[in-house]
Amino acid sequence: MEHIPMCINGEWVVGSKDIQVCNPSTGKPLVTISNATAEQIDQAVESANRAFESKEWRKFKPFERGQLLVELAQFIRTHAEQWAKLESMDVGKPLTQARADVEAAARYFEFYGGAADKVMGETIPIEDGLLNAVVLEPVGVTVHIVPWNYPIQITSRSVAAAIATGNAVIIKSAEDTPLTTHEIVKWLKDRLPKGIIQHVTGYGRDSGAYLSSHPGIHHITFTGSVPTGISVMQAAAKNIVPVTLELGGKSPNIVFKDAIEDEALEGVMRAIVQNAGQTCSAGARLLIEHTYKEEFLAKLVTLFEKIEVGAGEQDLDMGPLLNETQYKKITNLLEMARADGHVLTGGKELQIEGYPEGYYVAPTIVDGLDAAHPLAVEEIFGPVLTVFTFETAAEAITSANATPYGLVAGIWTSNVNTAHYVASRVKAGQVFINNYGAAGGIQMPFGGYKKSGIGREKGLVALRNYTQMKNIAIRY
Ligand code: NAD
Repeated sequence: MEHIPMCINGEWVVGSKDIQVCNPSTGKPLVTISNATAEQIDQAVESANRAFESKEWRKFKPFERGQLLVELAQFIRTHAEQWAKLESMDVGKPLTQARADVEAAARYFEFYGGAADKVMGETIPIEDGLLNAVVLEPVGVTVHIVPWNYPIQITSRSVAAAIATGNAVIIKSAEDTPLTTHEIVKWLKDRLPKGIIQHVTGYGRDSGAYLSSHPGIHHITFTGSVPTGISVMQAAAKNIVPVTLELGGKSPNIVFKDAIEDEALEGVMRAIVQNAGQTCSAGARLLIEHTYKEEFLAKLVTLFEKIEVGAGEQDLDMGPLLNETQYKKITNLLEMARADGHVLTGGKELQIEGYPEGYYVAPTIVDGLDAAHPLAVEEIFGPVLTVFTFETAAEAITSANATPYGLVAGIWTSNVNTAHYVASRVKAGQVFINNYGAAGGIQMPFGGYKKSGIGREKGLVALRNYTQMKNIAIRY
């Protein structure tokens, strides 16, 4: 079985084969990775600092960094099918969804590559004889801790922005999904000064925790769950290291009875089925106007029952859950749903012919839960939609905001006043009206209110995560 090496100080480091990575569609082993040791991480941080301070990196012009990133985007497109297969094998997602992720990765490198030579400071007029410059400098050694659900997209979005702004990068990929991150690093490794791009692997509680608490780093971009985000923030606080946190969600889709029905049905369904519901911005709660509930739900159930579930390579509508842990967690929650709610469809494990050891569950709709029930409030991270009703727009807003999260919200209505009113009061970093996901636009700022995170990624605004502002006042 192939072993995915780490990249430390410009070298491939094979290390010990501590962790077996499996294909979620088959449950079969795929590759092995190492659990990085403290010494290996020290070496990565030390060499990243050396590389960052090196003359070679200082002389690497912004437009050259940009050109390189754009070339990587082209390379990704040329190898898109091969990379999509890797992502699909690693995460279990249907090939079509993996292809979209690979294209998004190419777009991130292209977008931030184009921005690399447009990150500019300003001057501030104070008085004659004083030139007051504000310059934006790279922060230094940036750490990127990546989850398993969208590895290629999430690696690309922050790594591209960090390199565009002139930083050194250490990526810690998730223990289940190293493959496409490895491909990105493979391409960049010999094109950047030694130590500017590094990749360490391992368990979060070991290598992730050690890296987050390292005094030699200057910024952490963490994408993952709320509890881990809290640990990372606490570890970083000890060294006053800034963090960008992209965490979980329990996002609502709010459907009014004047919605364009076909679009709302399709949007609500896709928002929870995408990546088997293992998406931070999954539309996990349906809030439906009470007089429209019966009619809408009947049609939604019909739509859910047409969803085809299968292996990533079968490329159907929905793939398996990531691994056994996820599978056990979700099947336990489905049991809770059956006990405490009214399961309208799904609510059970699935056996897929030819893939007896894959981690499959049926897309599920649960009604009748108490609003404070854990299934209604906590992130499930599986294809489970919970349903609630509202009578007025004000009630919909209260319900939408009644979780600790605030990542995304969908609003479906033909009334522009209702749309604006609800959008202005929903506590979410991104609000979609009559769509959900805005065609995956990478140019728009993305991040959470409340426990969904701190800071924004995507778009030009994310470049600020990786720059430090310096004021230089020159008397002449
Ligand atoms: P997770 O928090 O378990 O792990 C995320 C990453 O952190 C992994 O690389 C893991 O190895 C590492 N890690 C674990 N413990 C650590 C520690 N103590 N210190 C440092 N690093 C540690 O999350 P996950 O299960 O991989 O991903 C699912 C979660 O990620 C969900 O909550 C989801 O909503 C969230 N997510 C958010 C976004 C977003 O952009 N907002 C995107 C994708 C996923």
